[in-house]
Amino acid sequence: MAKDLHAFMLIKHIIRIFAANFKKMSNKNKNNTQGEFELIDLLTQNINIYNRETIKGIGDDAAVLAFEKEQIVVTNDVLIEGIHFDLAYVPLKHLGYKAAIVNFSDVYAMNAQPKQLLVSIAVSNRFTTSMLQELYAGIKLACDNYKVDLVGGDTSSSRTGMFLSLTAIGSAEKNDIVYRNTAKEGDYICVSGDLGAAYAGLHLLKRENELFQADPSFQPVLEGYDYILQRQLKPEARADIYRYLKQKGIVPTAMIDISDGLSSEILHICNDSGTGCKIFENKIPIAPETESMADELSIDPTVCALNGGEDYELLFTVSPDDYKQLTAEPQISIIGHITNKKEGTVLISTGGNVIPLHAKGWNAFARAEDN
Ligand code: ADP
Ligand code: MG
Repeated sequence: MAKDLHAFMLIKHIIRIFAANFKKMSNKNKNNTQGEFELIDLLTQNINIYNRETIKGIGDDAAVLAFEKEQIVVTNDVLIEGIHFDLAYVPLKHLGYKAAIVNFSDVYAMNAQPKQLLVSIAVSNRFTTSMLQELYAGIKLACDNYKVDLVGGDTSSSRTGMFLSLTAIGSAEKNDIVYRNTAKEGDYICVSGDLGAAYAGLHLLKRENELFQADPSFQPVLEGYDYILQRQLKPEARADIYRYLKQKGIVPTAMIDISDGLSSEILHICNDSGTGCKIFENKIPIAPETESMADELSIDPTVCALNGGEDYELLFTVSPDDYKQLTAEPQISIIGHITNKKEGTVLISTGGNVIPLHAKGWNAFARAEDN
């Protein structure tokens, strides 16, 4: 009996604690909800709608889109503070811009046009409203530059740090969509722009940040490194290459964007297409700024291009019939060709050595374990 009473008292006690916590929680939710609506309004004001396919954007339970005959391309990226970005050296506006760009790049890599974007954020109370406005200024700038409509998202709080999830929607004619698994033996391998600069930029930022952490009176030296910093902090998606190929009437046989390094991406194309490849080290486009930073860091610039990542250039293969038209375009380099699977996936070094390619691309999981 006494035991039962004791249990009863204990339960009453627990219920009291639960009730107090519940009251706190529901009050908190109420404030948050009120704050959340105001915050959403603040962040999503002055949104421009560019595409006729956007029937209803932000402001209802869901966005409404209407496409005609085209196929729809959808892609999503998650960005976690401490895993994908470090706010010690990434300005929030740049983060917003880049988060949108990486999604647009995935749509272009399907040979499609990005049209809409959804943005979900979860932030801890460390982030002030003006910080979130900075983030959104970057997202909106990317949407304006690429004529993409911000049509919705979700807003939540997190216990620690910032989480971002962005979804881009694009469209293309069925026959224009380009997959990774359709490269053919004899095709030429092409890449836009230059490679390795974003990786060089990241190393520079990390080095200066470490020096600053060790001695706060240290003044980071970033002047003269504009190109590699811009490539790391404010990359662009290759809308120009997408348009160039369209204008020339060229549909690549396979395409992918370079987010994890040339090596890893060419292996995706070859493995998925059941082919081999031969790429030539001396044909890989590397900017002089990347070479001098690599030199400073005592790393091989080719390694920056092969294993770096975050370049957001387009890697694509074209049939031999189309290749001549591309040789005139300085923004496109032909770096090798697709071979029979039996020949393997190899790099021919400047010295003439045959080196098998390995996927040593950027790996969020490896990085999480390192931390
Ligand atoms: P619901 O409760 O139905 O999820 P919300 O209050 O979360 O609605 O969102 C209201 C509107 O604001 C919706 O159109 C939604 O897509 C949009 N929205 C919410 N959060 C964001 C955000 N972080 N960025 C852009 N749009 C957002
Ligand atoms: Mg919501």
